[in-house]
Amino acid sequence: MSDKITVNDKGVLTVPVNPVICFIEGDGIGPDIWAASRTVFDGAVHTAYRGTRQIAWKEIFAGEKAKTKTGNYLPDETLEAIKEYIVAIKGPLTTPIGGGMRSLNVTLRQKLDLYACVRPVRYFSGVPSPVKSPEKLDIIIFRENTEDVYSGIEWEANSLEAKKLISFINDNFSKTIPLESGIGIKPMSEFGSRRLMKMAVEYAVKHGKKSITIVHKGNIMKFTEGAFAKWCYKEAGENFKDITIKESDIKGPKDSEGKIIIKDRIADAMFQQLLLRPDEYEVIVTPNLNGDYLSDAAAAQVGGLGLAPGANIGKYAVFEATHGTAPKYAGLDKVNPGSVMLSGVMMLEHLGWDEAAKLIIKGIEKTIDQKYVTYDLERQMKGATLAKCSEFGKRIVENMK
Ligand code: NAP
Repeated sequence: MSDKITVNDKGVLTVPVNPVICFIEGDGIGPDIWAASRTVFDGAVHTAYRGTRQIAWKEIFAGEKAKTKTGNYLPDETLEAIKEYIVAIKGPLTTPIGGGMRSLNVTLRQKLDLYACVRPVRYFSGVPSPVKSPEKLDIIIFRENTEDVYSGIEWEANSLEAKKLISFINDNFSKTIPLESGIGIKPMSEFGSRRLMKMAVEYAVKHGKKSITIVHKGNIMKFTEGAFAKWCYKEAGENFKDITIKESDIKGPKDSEGKIIIKDRIADAMFQQLLLRPDEYEVIVTPNLNGDYLSDAAAAQVGGLGLAPGANIGKYAVFEATHGTAPKYAGLDKVNPGSVMLSGVMMLEHLGWDEAAKLIIKGIEKTIDQKYVTYDLERQMKGATLAKCSEFGKRIVENMK
């Protein structure tokens, strides 16, 4: 028996006790990390709910497996299945070279309007990190996922389109762009910025966070990044007036009592801030490109991409490993499945199955604490035992109990 998850106009899910959830195994190391993760997800749900809830997994195809089966890297049936079943989880996908698609991930995000890329970054005790106090970083990044320079509106240097556009700009707006340049467009809208901010504020309320930081380069790009910051403030000011306060409006210690402080930082300064004063930040809201850089840098600070989860959320939600397909390790049962597992934690929280999500965190914490880890951590941890990808997963299930 299995049932479909449904979602209403406000984005609220109704989750049956036996929901169908789609999965895309992924390319390269995808099958290894997916197999280990699925054992952990099923183990956590079973331990938490003793058979009263169960996920009905449905495999859907993208990437190389889809190309072999259907001749298409991202078949329409895959997009339709995600729309029908609302929630999906995926491993990494190879970017097809010369396949007419800049990236399967970007295409997936744009076609399903998954407008927020959500990446929590936290430290797991015992994981080797390049900084002195990695545990001070505990943030969640809301990165805009559909606009900015990632919208794919760009033309190659010397192409007819680039020359035409440059001539138009030079002739009509008194600019002097060299005619032989490549050119790209950076669209950012009030609608796109505000819906992201709304999701971030709602998250902050639900999780009792005390501040939200808008990260932008508005000092230079005033009408895109600067406008993003302005629109985010507008969203907070208009729709969350009673529960938020601008950092600049705080005059005394009582002003921010019981309120979420909204602040903004210039992107370059934010990289310094996360290294120097990480515990001053909780929720970050930022445009696409800044968010891409910032999430990888933050993940490195707490010990790397092997343990960095991500989710792409709009009306539908696709949870994913943040690293790539690491083809040289494909089929070796070797790599760290932590990124997919922690994406699964986000997925379970999204379903409201917090008990199962907590069990996975507990299992991962305990397993790393026992120094029973995959090669990437083992090579840096003194006295650690080397575990295969699948062994790491099985130990996590044992450690949940
Ligand atoms: P990558 O696959 O992330 O691998 C780079 C290195 O990161 C690996 O050689 C390995 O380091 C380490 N690594 C990655 N995943 C790991 C894991 N689970 N456990 C332990 N270590 C891990 O990056 P890439 O080689 O640049 O990209 C390969 C392909 O993946 C490309 O086709 C790219 O387009 C695609 N990609 C997909 C996604 C996605 O689907 N979300 C994201 C990024 C890239 P060591 O060699 O030091 O062991």
